[in-house]
Amino acid sequence: MQLAERLNTISEPQTIKMAKLSREMKAQGISIVDLSLGEPDFRTPDHINEAAIKAINEGYSKYTPVAGYPELLEAISIKLKRDNNLDYPPNQIIVSTGAKQSLIDAVMSIVDPGDEVIIPTPFWVTYATQVEMAGGIVKYVRCGIDQDFKMSPEQLEAAITPKTKLFMFSSPCNPTGSVYSKEELAGLVAVFKRYPYVAIISDEIYEYINFVGGHESIAQFEEIRDRVVVINGMSKGFAMTGWRLGYMAGPLDIVKACDKLQAQSTSGANSVAQRASITALLSDLEPTHKMVAAYKERCDYVIGALKKMPGVKANYPHGAFYAFPDISSFFGKSDGETVINDDVDMSMYLLNKGHVTTVCGSAFGDPHCLRLSFATSMTNLQEAMTRMAAALSRLS
Ligand code: PMP
Repeated sequence: MQLAERLNTISEPQTIKMAKLSREMKAQGISIVDLSLGEPDFRTPDHINEAAIKAINEGYSKYTPVAGYPELLEAISIKLKRDNNLDYPPNQIIVSTGAKQSLIDAVMSIVDPGDEVIIPTPFWVTYATQVEMAGGIVKYVRCGIDQDFKMSPEQLEAAITPKTKLFMFSSPCNPTGSVYSKEELAGLVAVFKRYPYVAIISDEIYEYINFVGGHESIAQFEEIRDRVVVINGMSKGFAMTGWRLGYMAGPLDIVKACDKLQAQSTSGANSVAQRASITALLSDLEPTHKMVAAYKERCDYVIGALKKMPGVKANYPHGAFYAFPDISSFFGKSDGETVINDDVDMSMYLLNKGHVTTVCGSAFGDPHCLRLSFATSMTNLQEAMTRMAAALSRLS
């Protein structure tokens, strides 16, 4: 069978590959601490589960409106006002089968073949694959550890060309945990104002997992709001990855375009997950705050431990649940058996010799770093840091 050419742009995500390798080693009886996964280790809070059970018992088993139940669109509208001071009426909101689907629908609605899309790196690799699937050309802009992995207004301005159609970013960021402040966003907005033909996709899926006290959305800037698409969802803040419920708020024409796409692809998101999400969004956020407090404690521990390892450079992530240390000082070193030439070698070395699973930074556009998820227990993290420190100390 001759497969379609578009498949050539898609490779297996490194995150999935590493998780698979670590599962295989575990199956051989090797004790592995897996820090490769990008999902909360918590259970969905009980009141959300109960809302889903109630929805099943009440017979919410039919197709829903393509954009989502009106009560859910209303709940999201309330949430955006309550948490972000953003005014989006329900007709400017559409729910989907996860933020990932919202992202690809937005990209498919905005990007034509040949259009340029600016992505600051490090970035969540799915963005680039989605742009390529739409025929767009990704313009990567390197934002290294010395600038806390965040893009400056000057870098943005230098990257924009007459062909630029879109800018895509996440804050809090996967993989770096970097969080843009209001002032930093304002700096980017000043540039966007000069280029009214550039749309912005703001991925805010880690909004709640934020250690700076509050989330700032780029959609708060009225001057550019008519071309901002806000992406969010239930996966991270409510520990609901498997429920597959995401949403988008944006300009009416883009939301309508996504409705059109969704009507011909999924027909809309799962009915029970939608009912449960109404409860999640309108309830007290105490369970979310408890999870965030646990992530913060783990973050403090992991960054403290990384900073004590000679040769490792680690920034403090202000959100999400990842550390993204720079390990490039080890390149060229060896434990007498394995030479570490790059981040991929380092990730494989830590897996094979240290029995800790990480993901190489090049999977996110920064080959100097590794991504370590702290969405796992403190016990696992302590064991992982002990193993990692020992494995690194053997390199000279
Ligand atoms: N954006 C980012 C930055 C993510 O890390 C993820 C999940 N790993 C998603 C979007 C997708 O989330 P969802 O489960 O809602 O599809």
